[in-house]
Amino acid sequence: MTDDPTLGSCPKCGEGLAAAHVLVEYVKDGATVLWAEYPICDKVVNPQ
Ligand SMILES: [Zn+2]
Repeated sequence: MTDDPTLGSCPKCGEGLAAAHVLVEYVKDGATVLWAEYPICDKVVNPQ
């Protein structure tokens, strides 16, 4: 069980993103951009 809020989901498999997966977080043009590594997909993705 986890209480982590959903930060987004993988555009490829739809799996929810946990905070622990976030590699990079920054603000671009006023919007927060996240890059996260998904163990399931074994890729770094931009969660939607
Ligand atoms: Zn995925």
